Amino acid sequence: MEIKIRELCKSYGKKKALQNFDATFENGIYGILGPNGAGKSTLMNILTDNLLRDSGRILCGGKDILKWGAAYRKSLGYMPQQQQLYETFTVTEFLAYMGTLKGMKKKEIRARMELLFPLLNLDKVKRKKIKELSGGMKQRVLLLQALLNDPKILILDEPTVGLDPNQIIEIRSLIKSLGEKHTIILSSHILSE
Ligand code: ADP
Repeated sequence: MEIKIRELCKSYGKKKALQNFDATFENGIYGILGPNGAGKSTLMNILTDNLLRDSGRILCGGKDILKWGAAYRKSLGYMPQQQQLYETFTVTEFLAYMGTLKGMKKKEIRARMELLFPLLNLDKVKRKKIKELSGGMKQRVLLLQALLNDPKILILDEPTVGLDPNQIIEIRSLIKSLGEKHTIILSSHILSE
C-alpha cells in the first residue's frame, strides 16, 4: 500500500515539530531516524490518525487518509513505544480485548491468534498473565496485537527499545520477514537500527 506525504506541517504553539515533511512509502521497511525531539512520534501520531496535522497531505492509494477515515484506520497496525499493557490480563485475554476494540469478530480473532502465536514464538505463554512476561515477550505481544487485524500498513514506534541484544536480533528478523507483504514504518534514534 503506497502512502505519500507531502508538505506536512505540525506545530505545538511556537514549536515547529514537522515542517514541510515529504516522504513516499511503498511495500518494504522504512526507518524514521532522528534524535529525541526530532518529531518522530508526532509523525507516527499523525500517520495513525491520532493527531491532526496543521497542513499538508497524506495520501493512501491516492486518497487522503482523512477521507478514508475508519477504512484507513482498519488497514493499520500500530505498535506503541510504551508497554502500557493490562498486567493482570492473560496474553490471550489481552489480545481478545484488542481484537474486539479493532472491531474484529471472535472467530476471526481466534483464527489470527492461532496463526500468529507460533510465528511470534508466544505459544508457550498464551495463558500467562502479562505481568509474568519478560520485556522481550511483552514487545512480541505488542507486535502480535499490531498484526491481529492483518494490516497492510504497520507502524512501529521504537520497537526494540529496552530489549537485550538477543531479543533485538529476534524482533529485527521478525520485522524483516514481514517487510515483503507490508508497508512497515519504524522509528528509531539508534543509527544501526
Ligand atoms: P520524537 O518522537 O522524535 O522524540 P516528538 O514528536 O515527541 O519527537 O517531539 C517533537 C517536538 O515537539 C519536541 O520538541 C517536543 O518537545 C515537541 N512536542 C511534542 N509533543 C508536544 C506537545 N503535546 N506539546 C508541546 N510540544 C510538544
